Amino acid sequence: MRVAMSTEQLPNSSISATIDFDADGVQHGFLQLPYSSDRSAWGSIMIPICQIKNGNGPTALLTGGNHGDEYEGPTSLLKLANSLDEKQVQGRVIIVPMTNQPAFEAGTRTSPIDAGNMNRAFPGQPYGTLTERIADYFNRTLVPLCDYALDIHSGGKTLDIIPFAAAHRLEDKTQEKRCMGGALLFGAPYTLLMVEMDATQLYDSAVESQGKVFVTTELRGGGTSTPATMAIADRGLRNFLKFTGIIEGSPDLPQATQLLEMEDDSCYHVSQDQGLLELKVTIGDHVTRGDLIASVHNRHRTGAPANHYYAGMNGIVLGRRHAPLTEIGDVIVVLASVVGGAKDYQI
Ligand code: ZN
Repeated sequence: MRVAMSTEQLPNSSISATIDFDADGVQHGFLQLPYSSDRSAWGSIMIPICQIKNGNGPTALLTGGNHGDEYEGPTSLLKLANSLDEKQVQGRVIIVPMTNQPAFEAGTRTSPIDAGNMNRAFPGQPYGTLTERIADYFNRTLVPLCDYALDIHSGGKTLDIIPFAAAHRLEDKTQEKRCMGGALLFGAPYTLLMVEMDATQLYDSAVESQGKVFVTTELRGGGTSTPATMAIADRGLRNFLKFTGIIEGSPDLPQATQLLEMEDDSCYHVSQDQGLLELKVTIGDHVTRGDLIASVHNRHRTGAPANHYYAGMNGIVLGRRHAPLTEIGDVIVVLASVVGGAKDYQI
């Protein structure tokens, strides 16, 4: 008899949750990941998790700290976990503010333990590195529990990005439309229909492949948060829960969102030089194909000409490299197309 290989046959995760996903009420606990180290032979990494559940209804999985140097997600999710009451909820909200906890503790994008980039580790492995083990737990345990997932990112220390909520271009156009509905109701200043440079190992792709409604964000960056970006995150989280129907009320949408889209990965402008980056544009600027967008100066000597970079398309400056020291292969500017209206996706 032929037996199809399925996730059922993979070994159990080494991660255990200290909360009961079936229990009503508010629970604050941990995902416990055994980690034997020089400092603690029988130690564990403790990833905070909170669940607020009241009866039957949909489940929303809300995550931050996928990258450890992005702060709106962890901050806003900690606040939500400490303020959301089960009486306000119909269904279940699962909150993981610091998904890659070792990276978050170090203030770095990737884990200092295994150099793991959580958003390049999916679908993960139960016997893999620590980062892969966390990814596997999400892929096989948490994501299957949810109907809706929101993963809050920002640009981190090396990028600065206009504040947007996004859904991806998906083959299943019905799913794409539902995801875009969630992105629009998040209520960020910009809403993006997004194409990734490499989607193969993203958390996003893992969630979408399980048929869930998935929304991601970028909310500026530079390795900090601001009152403005925190307000967007705080409002967006509540709006997203209203979108799912788990909490009541109409979304708080203080301004119309500008709809943007990426046709393909030519939106990403990549440096072909090592040097000192001088940006000629600011995020949110509108550019025309051929406009000078950046110069990369030789940083090792005088007398060498700079290399110039030009917009490959008409559009808006979605993001920029925040760190001025630039290497070959660094994305220096990301452009997106401005879309006239959001009618197709209004729900
Ligand atoms: Zn990120």
